[in-house]
Amino acid sequence: MAKRVALVTGGTRGIGAATCDALSALGFAVIATHVDRNRKPDPSSPLIHYLRWDVGNYNECLAGVEQVESTFGPVDVLVNNAGITRDSTLAKMDPADWEEVIRTNLSGVFNMVRAVFPGMCNRGWGRIINVGSINGQAGQFGQINYSAAKAGLQGLTKSLALEGARKGVTVNLVAPGYIATEMVAEMNPDILDKIVTRIPVGRLGTPQEIARAIAFLSAEESGFITGSTLTINGGQYLT
Ligand code: NDP
Repeated sequence: MAKRVALVTGGTRGIGAATCDALSALGFAVIATHVDRNRKPDPSSPLIHYLRWDVGNYNECLAGVEQVESTFGPVDVLVNNAGITRDSTLAKMDPADWEEVIRTNLSGVFNMVRAVFPGMCNRGWGRIINVGSINGQAGQFGQINYSAAKAGLQGLTKSLALEGARKGVTVNLVAPGYIATEMVAEMNPDILDKIVTRIPVGRLGTPQEIARAIAFLSAEESGFITGSTLTINGGQYLT
């Protein structure tokens, strides 16, 4: 039987790269996307394929998925992981920082599901995993744009899960807490130290710990799990 195809947006670094490794180890054909022409992917495995497009651009998503499907076959698993931050308090937030985060983190997911969901429904099988955030659940000072986008993904996930339920397509959200990736490395170290003191497990999470949950939701056996949020935050925020 041909390998199932998994497409991971933002699969070149951090949580996305760990997810590609986990899905590849489970036997999926894995395609990772990224956006920055100047940041060449650093493959951890020759089995992972890389493509570049901007998830915030609807036409690029349609064309990108078409390229993936004509080269590797239909997308069976979509992991909407690409995300950015542009943090500041409301008083200092430039409208462009609001727009860019909503465009990438929320509209980017619409663009990608719009491209793959109809095909999954027609074939009667699919797994969509959206990457939310603790800060979409709990809110965070200086992140109204990011929190709004990630909270929006919870509504998108639940609504799309209802559309996919009779078609064999599950749609779930993982909500990571603070994970040791470049996104977190960019934070002010004093603020990060304070955050770590509030994590009951006493440390940051690892990208592999999030990848494990995404791999679990991607499995054949996870077909009865849909519309759910899997919170993975070391006990920092209990929902
Ligand atoms: P990183 O900053 O380490 O990596 C981000 C990835 O997304 C890169 O591959 C980047 O590509 C890609 N990307 C960014 N913008 C776009 C775009 N417009 N189109 C396509 N790809 C894009 O992120 P993390 O691993 O830290 O985070 C991954 C996800 O997890 C994000 O959605 C984030 O919000 C979420 N998350 C992270 C947490 C954390 O503590 N790290 C906590 C909670 C949620 P390129 O290399 O080309 O820039």
